[in-house]
Amino acid sequence: MKVIRSIQEFLKVRDGIKSSAIGFVPTMGALHAGHRSLFERSKKEDEVTIASIFVNPTQFNDPKDLKNYPSTYDEDVQMLKEVGVDYLLYPTFDEVYPDQYRYVISEKKLSLNLCGASRPGHFDGVLSVVMKLFNIVRPHRAYFGEKDFQQLTLIKDMTTAFFMNIDVIPCPIVREKDGLAMSSRNMRLSPSERKLAPRFYEILSSPKGLAQIRGSLEESGFKVDYVEDVGSRRYGAVFLGNVRLIDNVEIKNTF
Ligand code: AMP
Repeated sequence: MKVIRSIQEFLKVRDGIKSSAIGFVPTMGALHAGHRSLFERSKKEDEVTIASIFVNPTQFNDPKDLKNYPSTYDEDVQMLKEVGVDYLLYPTFDEVYPDQYRYVISEKKLSLNLCGASRPGHFDGVLSVVMKLFNIVRPHRAYFGEKDFQQLTLIKDMTTAFFMNIDVIPCPIVREKDGLAMSSRNMRLSPSERKLAPRFYEILSSPKGLAQIRGSLEESGFKVDYVEDVGSRRYGAVFLGNVRLIDNVEIKNTF
């Protein structure tokens, strides 16, 4: 696997790749089995698989969250090599933001709800960096996890809105054996918080009304940010200590 830090160098390498089946998996590192499922999916479907690791400051509304974001670079590279990823783009802030974030991609509706309501500017940062990465990597297919369902929807809609010829592929949520959705932030949970965390998914997927779900979460010790139904999905975000967890489930008829 070739690791490339400079975007100019990456663009030259990209010009040399003549394949019409290039898959791209953008990440913020601290890789786990959820990320791995995305790399593996691309390996299966594409001739060339490109990953990126970039902890994107513009999508962090809370500076403490950015500062505490886990980094496991050596292990990440090992996983990427094991899976057979061909290129890792690993740029710095100044490389990605020569404009110092003067230019912003903004969505005016869905991005203001759910996670957007409690994280102002979060999706502006996400959409702006993904637009930049898509323009740099020029993939045919890009893989995103349903773990971040709102993000996935916004990115898919962005490619439609801007006539971008990129297939955004949704990938199912990978969970721990106890049901907790895998997330880089899980490693920041204390042992007692980690023990409680799977109750979030369990309660969110129980066939009850929203008020009851909120009540059960609070009784169990979660601080609820939101629980909402949008379309055929139920979305939730909770805090355990200062770690924010998100999850979502399909709404079945039994709800
Ligand atoms: P992140 O590094 O958190 O920005 O995530 C990079 C990509 O991995 C995003 O498309 C996420 O939705 C996806 N992802 C993260 N956790 C999971 C998971 N547990 N299952 C499936 N995809 C995931």
